[in-house]
Amino acid sequence: MSESIFKPKTYLGIALDPIHIGAGGSRLGRVDLSIIREPGTNIPKIPGTSLSGPARAYTAMQTNRYSCAGRGGEGGEKHCGRVEPACPVCVPYGFSKGTGSSMQGLAQFFDAQILLFPVASLAGTVWVTSPMALEGLGLNSHFQVPDDGFYPLGEQLKDKERLNFGWLMLPKGEGEGDLTNLPVPEEIKQRAVLVSDKLFPKIVNSNLEVRTSVSIDPQTGTAEEGALFTYEAIPRGTVLKFDIIYNSGKYFRVRGKELKTEGNGDVGTSWVKTQVEKGLKLFETLGIGGMGTRGMGRLKVLNLEKEDC
Ligand SMILES: [Zn+2]
Repeated sequence: MSESIFKPKTYLGIALDPIHIGAGGSRLGRVDLSIIREPGTNIPKIPGTSLSGPARAYTAMQTNRYSCAGRGGEGGEKHCGRVEPACPVCVPYGFSKGTGSSMQGLAQFFDAQILLFPVASLAGTVWVTSPMALEGLGLNSHFQVPDDGFYPLGEQLKDKERLNFGWLMLPKGEGEGDLTNLPVPEEIKQRAVLVSDKLFPKIVNSNLEVRTSVSIDPQTGTAEEGALFTYEAIPRGTVLKFDIIYNSGKYFRVRGKELKTEGNGDVGTSWVKTQVEKGLKLFETLGIGGMGTRGMGRLKVLNLEKEDC
């Protein structure tokens, strides 16, 4: 059986905590620390580098290769850069040991997008999505909804004639779409509603988590004067999707050497995926993003490969 040169996989994950991926000190309107957004749509996202960084660190933990955990450049000299047998961290995530010895990782991470976004309504929490958000999931369903209404995708909301979000009242409109084959928890699918691509960013941006926190002086352990700040976050319960492309290492040469696994096998796409998923597994307990010490950032990836196959 010949193995492909590359293999994409789409992951779905559910935020177990609010997730804050800072836009870097920018102040936006009402919050001090805003999160990164997609230019154009203005929808918050998680950049691929904010996924690959922690994934790398966690794969390093799981495989006891702590010195390979850091990114290239600064600290990159610590990377082992071993290709025979292939380092389970350096080869999937890349390494940079300076002149003549570096390699781009075989796993390519793409940005995580919001797929289903939880919003409180008078009918309880509903998960909002849009035709654009559902693109590329291979659902074999056409999604359609009027600009100024909602279409219930889940059974539980089929008989609702309107949704009251408090600040916004949405009537039910003619539409279509089917989430049956989407691998997310049933209770979320049952309460999923479709809104237009125009309305989706507005609903998301009006319902982000905004928290107030206090800077603590590390010397005294007390609150710094005037150190109250607010930050926004993607709320708990949000379902995100992100793609990773796994490239085969079969045709790679590093310093003239072929890449080989422990058992002298080829470094194929499934070997790369296995190493990366060891790291993704820890997103659920150790989290991603900033403010990890404040009960933030845990993301449960829903469709990891079963460990015994
Ligand atoms: Zn290494």
